[in-house]
Amino acid sequence: MNAFGLATIVAIVGGILNGDSLILQSETPLPPGLAAAVKREMALSETWEQRESPLLVVIHGVCHIPMPWQEGHIERPLGWVNKVDGQILSIIHIDCSRIGLALRRIVIDPTSTDTLEMYARAIARVIRHERRHVLLNTSTHEKAGENKSSLRADELAAPDFRRAFH
Ligand SMILES: [Zn+2]
Repeated sequence: MNAFGLATIVAIVGGILNGDSLILQSETPLPPGLAAAVKREMALSETWEQRESPLLVVIHGVCHIPMPWQEGHIERPLGWVNKVDGQILSIIHIDCSRIGLALRRIVIDPTSTDTLEMYARAIARVIRHERRHVLLNTSTHEKAGENKSSLRADELAAPDFRRAFH
């Protein structure tokens, strides 16, 4: 929250494959290049029905990758959506600090440019996973691939997501 009690809208990512757009909202700074990573990862999505209104992505927590030896509570989801009366709401929630914790085991230098790029990519992939729940109005998961219920750090971090599952 800022002095006016409003969360900050940090980026609007438009022109995604099937024409819809995402509004990224966060109260704390995001990894550089996140909007570009989101646009790139969404272009790899399957094509679903086009939405008329933008999808809001609320990014919670502080985006930070701790040092590998630092402990952290990780029994939380990377991202989630809410369901009300059988309908998945059009708001995606992302836990940036939780994603940072997931990546810390595979990161050598948490502050390097490569790491920040990987962080942005990982967040984009969690957004993509949650976006499917919203667009298909489903809370179900697939057995394998990016739509399974939990994603490993190496799957989030791989330069080519699809190859990470082969
Ligand atoms: Zn899911």
